[in-house]
Amino acid sequence: MKSLNGNFYNPPFSHIYVEQEALAHNRTGEILARFPHAKVVVIDHYKDVFCRSRQDYTAQHMAQNMILAVKHGSLLYEGAPVCQSFGNEYFYYTSCAMNCVYDCEYCYLKGMYPSGNLVVFVNLEDIFAEIEETLKRHPMYLCVSYDTDLLAIEHMTGYASRWIEFVRQQNERRPGSLKIELRTKCAGREFWKNVQPHPGVICAFTLSPQAVIDACEHRTPSLEQRILGAAEAMRAGFPVRLCFDPMLYCRDWRKQYEDMLAQVDARIDMEQLVDVSVGTFRVSQDYLKKMRKNEPYSAVVQFPYQNDGGVYHYPTELMEEMEQFMVERLAERIGREKIFQWQET
Ligand code: SF4
Repeated sequence: MKSLNGNFYNPPFSHIYVEQEALAHNRTGEILARFPHAKVVVIDHYKDVFCRSRQDYTAQHMAQNMILAVKHGSLLYEGAPVCQSFGNEYFYYTSCAMNCVYDCEYCYLKGMYPSGNLVVFVNLEDIFAEIEETLKRHPMYLCVSYDTDLLAIEHMTGYASRWIEFVRQQNERRPGSLKIELRTKCAGREFWKNVQPHPGVICAFTLSPQAVIDACEHRTPSLEQRILGAAEAMRAGFPVRLCFDPMLYCRDWRKQYEDMLAQVDARIDMEQLVDVSVGTFRVSQDYLKKMRKNEPYSAVVQFPYQNDGGVYHYPTELMEEMEQFMVERLAERIGREKIFQWQET
């Protein structure tokens, strides 16, 4: 892979596109102040840049730019069937940013979006307002870090901190009404020391064996850094979830995942976790088609998956073997009722 700072690519965020409507927003100014050397380009609508046809996602992602925009229309979505609800009845997700600064080869965002650029919606308060309206009708479990890794861009946006404060406010108003999941591959160790914990904020750390990280989770923190981040979040008083999802196949996957668990054991008392999730890689057929076109040399993307009802996953026998293996190992460490396994529907 060519260097991010090599001759071929601009450094990340050398250009920041700002929607006309976003220009006057306070948050736009705050974010732009963090990039004093960026060239700012004013645009009419983020889709004019983000949704252009014939964009090269991979090349764009290597020299990622940012788009600051105002989000309109529906701001909350019902949870997708390929995602886990963790037993919550009212399962939603929202998207205050699109795309990620990390570069996991298997990331479904590469199949979902036409552009590798990062979009940040500056009108977070409009999302908050829609949630408040919904909370008047019923409680909510909300995933706020699906279409990005919010903690990885916290130094640019401050959004994770805002979410934590919003959860606190809402639960003061209506106790037990709002629970969010902040899913991340970021370590963010200082972050956990600087925010006030709340039981309604589940900090979910996705862990993979170091060999998997090296092979296909480019630019992400190491396994050890993520484990230390999770331990720090627990120490700070947040409920912590560990996600062994997606599990990825490699020739010695049993040893790799066994070693990973031993590394977790050394730092974390797993009985203290709120829960864990287990799932092998799966993705919708439409996304995988595009991912395969974008990444012709990626082993994880080009694997001969099995298609069931429009969802690609490992051949059933392998999928069950891998998930069963992990569930059994985890059951030696944590109660079965805390192990959530993705079920094909
Ligand atoms: S951390 Fe998550 S969102 Fe970011 S590239 Fe990896 S899979 Fe995608």
